[in-house]
Amino acid sequence: LNRQEIPSPASPAAASSDKKGRLTIGVDLGGTNLRIAAFDPEWNRLAYINLPTRVSEGPDAVVGDMCDAIHRVLEQCPQQLVGVGIGAPGPLELPSGKFHRPPNLPGFDGFLLKDAMESKLQTPVIVEKDANAAALAEWKSGVGKKMPGDSMCMLTLGTGVGAGIVLDRKIWHGMIGMGGEGGHIPLVENGFPCGCGGRGCLEQYASATAICRAATRAAARGGADRIAKLIARRIADQCEFTARDLAGLAREGDEPSRQIFADAGKFLGMGLAMLVNVLNLPLYVIGGGVVSGWDLFAPRMFEELRRLSYIYGLTEPEADQSFTPGKTYIVPAATGPDAGLLGAAMLPYLEAGTL
Ligand SMILES: [Zn+2]
Repeated sequence: LNRQEIPSPASPAAASSDKKGRLTIGVDLGGTNLRIAAFDPEWNRLAYINLPTRVSEGPDAVVGDMCDAIHRVLEQCPQQLVGVGIGAPGPLELPSGKFHRPPNLPGFDGFLLKDAMESKLQTPVIVEKDANAAALAEWKSGVGKKMPGDSMCMLTLGTGVGAGIVLDRKIWHGMIGMGGEGGHIPLVENGFPCGCGGRGCLEQYASATAICRAATRAAARGGADRIAKLIARRIADQCEFTARDLAGLAREGDEPSRQIFADAGKFLGMGLAMLVNVLNLPLYVIGGGVVSGWDLFAPRMFEELRRLSYIYGLTEPEADQSFTPGKTYIVPAATGPDAGLLGAAMLPYLEAGTL
């Protein structure tokens, strides 16, 4: 295959009846890593490339890296290309993929990702917000498989709190692609300043970053000796102190660590109460690294949700009940760290109405 040429894509509409021998490419454009993968229509991964994102070199260099990697992936796979989907961090205007001062991609303000990719690849490219792509993957091949429905909401607790909504089998974009920003629900008056310019957003209380910051503050205040010791050890080892470290302490019974997870659960419950009351969806999925601490934050999260959401009170499933339509389910994600990448690869089929 000539590296500069991509064969004209197979029609996704036609692919609905005969998907065999086809592939889609998903790209997860992160502030740190650029991940490119090809998937078959059963969502098996056929090829995978992981590169650092050369943010400081500017958007043209990053687009060049993405296109080179896509060509390399296509060289490894004989299947016919159906399309390319990219998940990118927001704020992002859709469908153009125009960035608006994205905090994780400095220098990308005003850049038109879809145009840049299509003119270089000479094939259609679909751009989506990364959290929306993750929601799509979870709906189609994660928790949504066991709890089928036309709509769901996903919160991804990582560096920030990403959110995506699948509504009536489509991603909810709002007017210009900026809908579904559940991570920036304001919860605390005059709370922590947020990267979005606001204050007291959910992201500032329930992300992995927020949990680590709470740990650092507790250690500095005193009375959290085990946290302070572990942070000091991580600094000495030149490692990052993570939410996973704190979860380890909490599971050993360290009370200040348990309290930090409970607090994150409380704020998550507040955010979910608003989402449940406004959206009345059957399924809310919580993903991202913090979910490994589900046992530590979920009890407080459900307590707050019951207290604040009468819709949840009316639709809470009974314990140990199998999936029942008409109930509100809040569950941990099933897809793992590849959700955004897989969801991006699903975009060509979603756009064609054949997902
Ligand atoms: Zn915010």
